[in-house]
Amino acid sequence: MFRFLLLFMVLSAPAHAENDFFAQRQQMVKEIDETVRYTSGQIGKMALDIRVMDVMRRVPRHEFVPVSMQAFAYLNQPLPIGNNQTISQPYIVALMTDLADINKESVVLEVGTGSGYQAAVLAELAQFVYSVEIVEALGRQAALTLKRLAYDNVKLRIGDGYHGWMEYAPYDAILVTAAPETIPQALIDQLKPGGKLVIPVGKQSSIQTLQVVEKNKQGRISVHDVLPVGFVPLTRSQ
Ligand code: SAH
Repeated sequence: MFRFLLLFMVLSAPAHAENDFFAQRQQMVKEIDETVRYTSGQIGKMALDIRVMDVMRRVPRHEFVPVSMQAFAYLNQPLPIGNNQTISQPYIVALMTDLADINKESVVLEVGTGSGYQAAVLAELAQFVYSVEIVEALGRQAALTLKRLAYDNVKLRIGDGYHGWMEYAPYDAILVTAAPETIPQALIDQLKPGGKLVIPVGKQSSIQTLQVVEKNKQGRISVHDVLPVGFVPLTRSQ
């Protein structure tokens, strides 16, 4: 009898863990929602797109962090992912995704793959996601995670994304998840008319500003500030 009980416990343990993660993820989404309301004066809305929130409810963030961090995966906080880099705060991931205005037809570029989590969130909403990561070890790990979770509409490249990814340009949306001091012109050039670039801008020594750059149908550029943020620097290979 005891043996059977033990066997049952062993077999059901992973299922319990998954249920826990599921519950924690629902709680995380509630906290994102609260943070959105708290910052509504700055971001100009009381709630994010429901499709974005649904994706945040689904994507298993714990799969994108080191095992030692899994217990903290659903805190609404950035977490270390090795190589001095971090996976962004879930609220920021949701906000940047919302600001990018992505739909099923969108072709999206991300600069700064990191753990691959933001790429997975984008892949749930877009037609295709291209993502560039400058640190080889992170790019390789992200590729493994995304493959294991069957995100087949994401293509990764290891390299410097400062100049975007010309080969597949132009893009409907570009998200940059590391901060340059000024907006790289190449990223603006690689936006489609009607497209949006969501990017943190500013020096590391100060707080940066999350900006949305919009290219209208006539190709005219407008920039607006959304929120003070803190991102790792957008580094350069040379
Ligand atoms: N989007 C990530 C968060 C990444 S943190 C996630 O969801 O986990 C920012 C990432 O940008 C880091 O992994 C860093 O190595 C990368 N990065 C910094 N400068 C870069 C550059 N010039 N080109 C591509 N990636 C860069």
